[in-house]
Formats: sequence, C-alpha cells, structure tokens
Amino acid sequence: MASVLEIIPLGGIGEFGMNCMALRYGDEMIILDAGMGFPEETAYGVDVSIPNFEFLEPYRDDITAIVLTHGHEDHLGALPYILKKFNVPVYCSHFTAGLAESKLEEHELLGDVLLHRVEPRDIVELGSFIIEFIRVSHSLVDCFSLAIKTPVGTIIHTGDYKVDETPVIGEPIDLRSFRRYGQDGVLALLSDSTNATVPGRTPSERAVIPAFEEIFAEAKGRIIVAAFASSIHRIQIVMDVAQQFNRRVCVLGRSMQKNVEVADRLGYLDIPDGLLVALNQAKLMSDDEIVYLVTGSQGESRAALSQMATQSYKGLTIDEGDTVVLSARIIPGNERLISRMIGFIYKRGANIIEEKRRLIHVSGHASQEDIRILTEAVRPRYVVPIHGEYRMLFRHKEFVKNHLGYSEENIILIENGDVLEFDGERAAVIDKREIGRTFIDESGFEEISSDLVRERKQLAYEGTITLAITIDGETGELIGEPRIVARGVRGLSSNGMSSISSQGINDNGSEGRNMLKEALSVITAALAGASRQTMEDDSLLKEHLRVELKRFIYKQTGSKPVIMPMIIRV
Ligand SMILES: [Zn+2]
Repeated sequence: MASVLEIIPLGGIGEFGMNCMALRYGDEMIILDAGMGFPEETAYGVDVSIPNFEFLEPYRDDITAIVLTHGHEDHLGALPYILKKFNVPVYCSHFTAGLAESKLEEHELLGDVLLHRVEPRDIVELGSFIIEFIRVSHSLVDCFSLAIKTPVGTIIHTGDYKVDETPVIGEPIDLRSFRRYGQDGVLALLSDSTNATVPGRTPSERAVIPAFEEIFAEAKGRIIVAAFASSIHRIQIVMDVAQQFNRRVCVLGRSMQKNVEVADRLGYLDIPDGLLVALNQAKLMSDDEIVYLVTGSQGESRAALSQMATQSYKGLTIDEGDTVVLSARIIPGNERLISRMIGFIYKRGANIIEEKRRLIHVSGHASQEDIRILTEAVRPRYVVPIHGEYRMLFRHKEFVKNHLGYSEENIILIENGDVLEFDGERAAVIDKREIGRTFIDESGFEEISSDLVRERKQLAYEGTITLAITIDGETGELIGEPRIVARGVRGLSSNGMSSISSQGINDNGSEGRNMLKEALSVITAALAGASRQTMEDDSLLKEHLRVELKRFIYKQTGSKPVIMPMIIRV
C-alpha cells in the first residue's frame, strides 16, 4: 500500500455550497462534511444538489466515518443521502447532532445511524487518522475546525470560521490549540475562503446589538426580524433586545421554529420565561408589544416573510407602521427575489431596514485579517484555499502570497475532483476525477436524474411537439392523417401553440404553417417507408417517427424540442 495521503474534494471548491471532501490513506477513507448546494436550475423543479456519491462506490469498504465541522446546510444537508448509500458512523458536535437528528428523522433514518457527539478538544482515532476537534467561531454555534494527524503529517481543515473573541453564545475561537499544532508542525491548512476578498477583520456577532437596540427604541409598531434560521447568535440577540424593550417574541417558519427548538433543548439559547408566544396569542397583543422572528430573508416565496408581504401568513399580513428588519446577507443569485419582496413590503406601507443601511448583520466567515491570524497561528507548510467560488480561492491565494510571505509553490489551488497527494515530501495534484452532482427534489427527498433535469430544460427552452397518428389495429393501415401540435417551438409556434392535421391548420404565421405542412409530409413519407415490423411495434414506430421529425425540425429551425409521438390503434 502506497504511503501517500490523498485529498479529494467532492464539492464546495469553485462553487458556493455543497462542501464535501474525502481523505484517503492506504485503504482507509474518511469523509469531511456532506453539504448541499443550491443550483441555478431551480426553475426546473430542482431545489438542491448534492455531490454525486457514486464516486465513492469503489471505496465502499474503505470508508470508516463521516466527520462534520458544523450544522449549516452546505455542510450537513447531504448527510441523509450519503448515509443511505454508505451507512458509517458520524462524528460531530452536540448542536450539529441535534440538527442532523431532525434531518435523519425526516428521512426515517434516525434509528439506523450511529451519531457520535464530541466536545471541543476531544480526540477521535479513526485508523490512520487521529482527529482533534478545535472550537471555532462562526454564525452558527458549536462549530469545529479539524486537526487531522496522518502518517504523512497533520492536516488542519478549518470548516467555516471567523476569529470572534466575543461571541454571543459559547466560548471564543480556540487559537491556543491552533498554535499548539503550529508549534508541532502542520503539513497543510485547508482554509475557508468565503470572505477572502474582504479586507480587515470580520466583526464579532455582538457588533449588531447597538443597531438592534436603536431600531427597537424607535419602532412604534410591530417589529418583524427576518434572519437565517441557523443564525443562533442573532436569534439570541433578538430575544435579549426584545426582553429589554418589553416585547414578546413569536417565532414563525418551519426551519426557524425547528432550530430554536433544538438550540433551546440543548441549552445553547437562553430564553427568558414567558418571552416566547404562539401566533394566536401574538395576534391579540398590541403592536408595540411583539416581535416576529421569521424565515424568508432571501425572498423565498414559500417562506413566512414573503407570504406576509404578498398575501398573508397564517392570517398575518405586513401593514403600515410595521418595521421589517432584514438581518441577513444576500446570497448571490437571490438579488431579484429579495428586491421584489422589498417592493411588496414598501407597498404595504411598512418601513424596511436592510443590511446596507444599518449594522444588523455580520458575516460568519473569516476576512483577510482573520485569515492572517489563523494562518500565522498554524504556520502550515502548504495553504490550500477551500470553500468558495474560484474568485475567492484565488484572492485567498493572493493574500497569503502577498501578505503572509508564502511562495507560489506552497499555496495549492484545487478544484472539485482533483486528487491532491501528499507523500510527506511534496504535494501535487496527481489526478482529476469526474464527480458531478445529483439533483434532489426536496419535497419528496427524491434524487432527480440529470437526464430529467436536461429534459425539463429542453422543455423550457425548446418547447414540445406532439405527434398523434391513428392506425387500424386489424390491417395496420394509417387511419386519417397524422396530427402535429407544436408548443413553444421557435419558428413553429409564433404565439404559443400551433397545430396541423387533416382538419386544418390553426396557427399564427404563414411560415410556421408551411413548415408544419412540410413536417406532415415528412411524417407521411416516414410512415410510407416504414417496414412492416416497425409499423407493428409501437416503440419502434415511435422512435422511427421521432428521429425523422427531430432531424427535420432541427434542420429547419435549429431547435431541439421534446418530441412526443403517440400511436393510437383502433
Ligand atoms: Zn457555515
């Protein structure tokens, strides 16, 4: 067995989300994080994507564990899907386990999975990998970096982090442990790049408190705070400030309620007695006595805030005099949804406070000076930027090179599927593997094949052609003429739908009409030329007609609609 360490990212490098990485030494493999991504293909009914875990199939017997850095969806969301394929023990913090449990429960996996809860500074031996969990600060609570001792050297994987000396909940980042590893020698630091383009330090989670106090002091009516359901520090701040200003808190939205419940049950949130009220109770209170803490900061149409802004959420509507606080950043790609929702909120006559106007949101990720602090504590031989789009990885590299004195060959930029090999002497990308992604329909937790997504895309962009022919079941002869209906096909259906049959033509353009006529003769000719065997077999005949029509349409219009032949035998 070759004594090299391989690091293979399955996702999260060169993209936002879907963080997942395999570490392999000899015949042992561990998986770090199992995150979801949020593909742009949403329009085709795809909610999320996960790494294509088929890649791991050849290593089935080698995988010993999944280790999670923290509970954000882009690190945890794919856990049920990977466990359905490879049921190995999972190691994570108490809070991460709390979130993982409710996820596994939804997938009816809870009883079948071994979840190990670890504390900061716990050490877990997984064969050749000896892992210490180091406490880091982030927008979520109970988050870890991983220090992984391997036979070729120590690897530190930061997970998501920032250097927060005054978090709202829990202890500050454990820089002492990072320094301890730094003194012993670290081979490589795999480091969060999400905010590597941002100069300076990332503010502490506490930094938003003054703005919240001002907003609460000014607001005369109801206050509606939208935040990420996972921003546990922020949720605590809203509760504390509400208590200070004699308001009660009503939590709305499924994920917000779930996370508050988990964080409260595990003792991370400190909720004063009587602070939380149910919705029916909240509705009876006067406007200056209540705060709604809601989901939907990204303008998601099904979430509480959007519904309150457009119609109503369980009988609750945004009104004149309300103050809406968007305490979250805009996730790239959501700009238009958010902008539209803000428009609706203004139309309702409410006041809206965005991140741009007041310090009501801070990032959970390391800015450049945070990166400096951590990199200098660890002093690794190699820096490997992870977590982020290529632009961020590149800027991370530039920062480390220009400001921390690292040379080009000691900073390694990798991409998903790269096999980064360490043999103790040198580091190199020795191979590139095709990994890909799997799409998930969240409503049914079903995997959607990429063929299906492609077909949906084709339907959306190229339209459909339905072809119906009727055949005499006895004689095998064609009855009447074929009927062709085109929908959304460029050059064929100028205004929605057009169709042609022996009964006549119904469309809006002479060019399209002529082409449909020609298509009809192509079909007639194809039928005439079909063998007896083809005519008798539905699937052969359908394929024959589909191919002929596809060829003709592509030649004439340059488009590739989805063609659906139907054969009726009477
Ligand atoms: Zn995170």
